[in-house]
Amino acid sequence: MKSYLGIINRYQQYLPVTKNTPVITLNEVNTPLIYAPKLSAELGPNFRVYLKYEGLNPTGSFKDRGMTMAISKAMEKGLKAVICASTGNTSASAAAYAARAGLKCIVVIPEGAIALGKLAQGLIHGAKVIAVRGNFDDALRVVREISQNYKVELVNSINPYRIEGQKTASFEICDFLGLAPDFHCLPVGNAGNITAYWKGYKEYYAYKKIKSLPRMLGFQALGAAPIVKGHPIKNPRTIATAIKIGNPASWEKAEEARDESKGAIKAVSDSQIISAYKFLAQKEGVFVEPASAASVAGLFMLGKEKFFPPIKNKEIKIICTLTGHGLKDPQAALKTIKSPPVVKAQLEAVVKKAGL
Ligand SMILES: *Cc1c(COP(=O)(O)O)cnc(C)c1O
Repeated sequence: MKSYLGIINRYQQYLPVTKNTPVITLNEVNTPLIYAPKLSAELGPNFRVYLKYEGLNPTGSFKDRGMTMAISKAMEKGLKAVICASTGNTSASAAAYAARAGLKCIVVIPEGAIALGKLAQGLIHGAKVIAVRGNFDDALRVVREISQNYKVELVNSINPYRIEGQKTASFEICDFLGLAPDFHCLPVGNAGNITAYWKGYKEYYAYKKIKSLPRMLGFQALGAAPIVKGHPIKNPRTIATAIKIGNPASWEKAEEARDESKGAIKAVSDSQIISAYKFLAQKEGVFVEPASAASVAGLFMLGKEKFFPPIKNKEIKIICTLTGHGLKDPQAALKTIKSPPVVKAQLEAVVKKAGL
């Protein structure tokens, strides 16, 4: 059996790599596309929804797809250090791949706004983690300035190699289904991922691997929805910290993906996000972080709004990207459910509480 060796190995003919690129990989991705029967049934008999579970990457989010490319290219350029601003997952991924490559990694995070698991990852992988008094947008401004003035590679999604790596998610979906889906839902934060997916679908179409293109449906959190509102948000607010971004770096590219694909970018409230988060965990058995549930929250919303035209005898295939693992943010989970009851260590007491 041929072993799976990561995306650069698998999709090198579609990626800007050469024989001289030192491949830094943790055998990332090849993530499962999980059929979601309950979610499909909620939408109607013609719907078939699949979950692209990106939480199963080496550091627990899709960021690894882009990071294997960004770090490999930084090595190829002979750089010794990388830097990023992060709402958490970029820093976790950068720290892990930099450790693997033997590069110095500097991470700038908004103070007090990073989920516990992500903070632990950056620190244990040995990154220099620095918190700034400000939000993600402030952190990104600072690291952009530093990367322009020092010999250090910026590995946020404005780094074009990040987008190149991330576009492979579309390839995997099409390779698995044997065709392109009809719709693709995903959360939108800094908007690199929607940009990358759309680029991937368009390239596969140009290579004649697929005969149609999906419509891209992006979802922002209501308190952090600059693209929906049409202006930057000064103090973005949402429980979904990974998409708590007020001025997305790939704003225009996200609008291009929306317009070219005849898709939409809409906002979902925190309570819609939480109910989708619980639905995924309790009905589909898939635990994600809150930001990831924005894709499903948006799908529920559009389903209720009758956004999807009923097409007789045709199955509507929809992908929801689940961007990060639920264990990244255990505190978010505990906040949405009751803590367990405590009873006597006695058969009757446990049976009674268990409702047997
Ligand atoms: C980074 C991230 C996002 C947002 O992706 P963008 O490319 O910034 O739009 C969404 N969910 C999770 C879990 C993330 O880590």
